[in-house]
Amino acid sequence: MEHLYAPWRDAYIKNKIEGCPFCYIVENPDIDAKTKVLFRSTNCFIVMNLYPYTPGHLMVIPNRHLDKLEDLEESVWQEMNVLVFRCVTLLKKELHVSGVNLGMNLGSAAGAGIAEHIHYHIVPRWQRDTNFITTIAHTRVYSTDFESFYQKIKQHIPKYFG
Ligand SMILES: [Zn+2]
Repeated sequence: MEHLYAPWRDAYIKNKIEGCPFCYIVENPDIDAKTKVLFRSTNCFIVMNLYPYTPGHLMVIPNRHLDKLEDLEESVWQEMNVLVFRCVTLLKKELHVSGVNLGMNLGSAAGAGIAEHIHYHIVPRWQRDTNFITTIAHTRVYSTDFESFYQKIKQHIPKYFG
């Protein structure tokens, strides 16, 4: 995923919100439509990345603010993985993505833009999408595309997470 790394996206989020942007989402469930939260489980949530590598780029994030995976309760880690599993299933079955990159950057040395609050990336890929990614990396995804992807995924949420 190295060639897709674009740290300015996380930097941009940081500038827009005081403190940790993921804790901001945890503390403001009333604006889920605005922050593009798709689902909340007991200890985690699924959110569209506002500055995606590709359209439909999702993140699974624990509610608890922590920077070390090894400090997370194993049960919450399992909860995260169930959500990741279902996100991949949804993306493949409903949005017909041809591939998915899964991963976590743990620590700033590993390339995490928001290292203080761990998060799991789910990045949909399509065949021959490299040119497309190069394009959006410099122009960003148009908000209409972003919104339509959010709505597309959102409508399938009850089926996979109900
Ligand atoms: Zn946080």
